[in-house]
Amino acid sequence: MPELPDLAILRDRLSPELLGQKIRSIEIVDPIVVRNLIGATPDEVYKELPLLSLERRGPFLNFIFEKMNIVIHPMLSGRFSLDPKYKKKDLCVRIVTEGPVLNYADDTRMGKVYFLNEGELGRIPKYEEQGIDLLSEEFTLAAFLKTIEKSRQQIRAFLMDQSKLSVLGNAYADEALFAAKLHPKTPCNRLSLGEKTFLYESIKKVIADSIEYIRAKNAPLDVKVRDHVKVRNRKNEPCPVCGTTIRRANVLGYDSFFCPVCQPAKGEQFIPWGTQDNSTQVN
Ligand SMILES: [Zn+2]
Repeated sequence: MPELPDLAILRDRLSPELLGQKIRSIEIVDPIVVRNLIGATPDEVYKELPLLSLERRGPFLNFIFEKMNIVIHPMLSGRFSLDPKYKKKDLCVRIVTEGPVLNYADDTRMGKVYFLNEGELGRIPKYEEQGIDLLSEEFTLAAFLKTIEKSRQQIRAFLMDQSKLSVLGNAYADEALFAAKLHPKTPCNRLSLGEKTFLYESIKKVIADSIEYIRAKNAPLDVKVRDHVKVRNRKNEPCPVCGTTIRRANVLGYDSFFCPVCQPAKGEQFIPWGTQDNSTQVN
């Protein structure tokens, strides 16, 4: 569930509740999501430690304590709740502080909760390999152009490559391509400078608008706000711009939703239909 806008807001909402609070206990309800890298029971090691800071790195939330960290990678279905009575079946880990209780719940159990010593973040797969953070000042047009310049990937796959852009998930990759009017299978090296520039602006706008929308909704922490998306999971619904039926395509194993009219496949108009005569090409 959580993508970049959700995680940015989660961090902002959890920080004032949890910063400075000392841990009373850590209850592991389902160990399948836990990666314990400390060689001891988290409940004993973290007891009485106050939370010093909460940072987001790409799709990870990093809870920082003196000499220790807890990093949560919620993947597709991880959710958070501060409800002290949270007892749903997806509950995996409870971090009980002297103040609130932070519940980590995960329906599919695909997410991970890492307990680790400071300085060992490199042991978390993909943690240090994150590309440019889309909410950082480093995400400039020049940096984006430099990153996309060498890529021959299909654009949908490029957008979801966390070692390049950190981080677009399925929903906002689809939304950014819709805003940029690009077909998800377009190879990066077929894009003009103008198209790349428009794509950069579209990514920034889609993320910024979504953060503003989700923040204004102020839904309960564990509720997913996605009613603002224009194409994601809207197969067979009309495109909000032109009314054409939205389609779903498979791009390297991932479902991608797009409007075939607003986002035409590049090159379709150049198929030579078995002739060498350039004059018969339909442009
Ligand atoms: Zn359309």
